[in-house]
Amino acid sequence: MVANVPGLLAVRTEFFQRIGLLRRGEDQFESLARDYSGDSFDGLTIFVNDLQEYVTPRSTLASYARLVQALRQTGKPLFGLFGGYYTLILRKIGLGCFSNGVGYGEYRNSDYYAGGQAVRRYYMPKLHRYFTDTEAQSLLDVVDERWFRCGCNVCAGRRRLTSLASQELLDHFLNVRFDELGHAGANTLEGILDELAQTFSRLRRYRVIPPDRYNHLREWVEALRPFC
Ligand SMILES: [Zn+2]
Repeated sequence: MVANVPGLLAVRTEFFQRIGLLRRGEDQFESLARDYSGDSFDGLTIFVNDLQEYVTPRSTLASYARLVQALRQTGKPLFGLFGGYYTLILRKIGLGCFSNGVGYGEYRNSDYYAGGQAVRRYYMPKLHRYFTDTEAQSLLDVVDERWFRCGCNVCAGRRRLTSLASQELLDHFLNVRFDELGHAGANTLEGILDELAQTFSRLRRYRVIPPDRYNHLREWVEALRPFC
C-alpha cells in the first residue's frame, strides 16, 4: 500500500562535512536513499538547515548534490525546502522543484528566530544572490556595463536602487526568479555553469570589488562540474 505522504529529510550542513571526511562517503548516501525507497513515502522533501549557499564551501555543496543524485534513484519526486540559485540549478540533476518564500531568506535556520526590521535587499541577477540595496548599488556603480544590469521592467531606466520602493524590490526579484527558472529549464547544466564561470572571470578584473561578492560563483561551478 502506498502511504501517499511525502517524507521529510532534514539535514544539517555539518552532516555533509562529516560525510566528506569518511572514506566511503558515497555509500552513506546510497544507504540513506535505500532507507527512503520503500512505500512509506511517495515523495521526499529535502531541507538543509541554514544552507547559506553563497558562503558554503564547494565540498559541502557537492555533497548536497550527491545526496540529491542518490535520492533520485528512489524514483520519487524530490522537493527542496528553501534555497537560492544553487538549489535551483540542482533541478538539472533531479531536484524536481523547490520552495522560495518571496521576501524571505533563501535559507532558514531552525535553531533560532531573529526578529527586527526587514533589511532592504536587492537581488543581483548576475550574482544570483541578495545584497543590501546600498551594496548592490555600489557594485553597479563600479561595473557600469549593460551585461551586469537587470533588464526587468522595474529596473528599466537605470534608476538608483535606493529609490526603489519595497514592493518594487520584491517585484524585481520575482521577475528575475521567473527568468532564472526559464533559463535553467532551457539550458544544459554545462551551459549554466559556463555562464557563472564567465561572470566570475569578468568581475575578477575589477580589483576594487571584494572577492567575497562573487567567489560563490566559482564554488558553485566547481561543486557541480562533476555532474555535467
Ligand atoms: Zn530588475
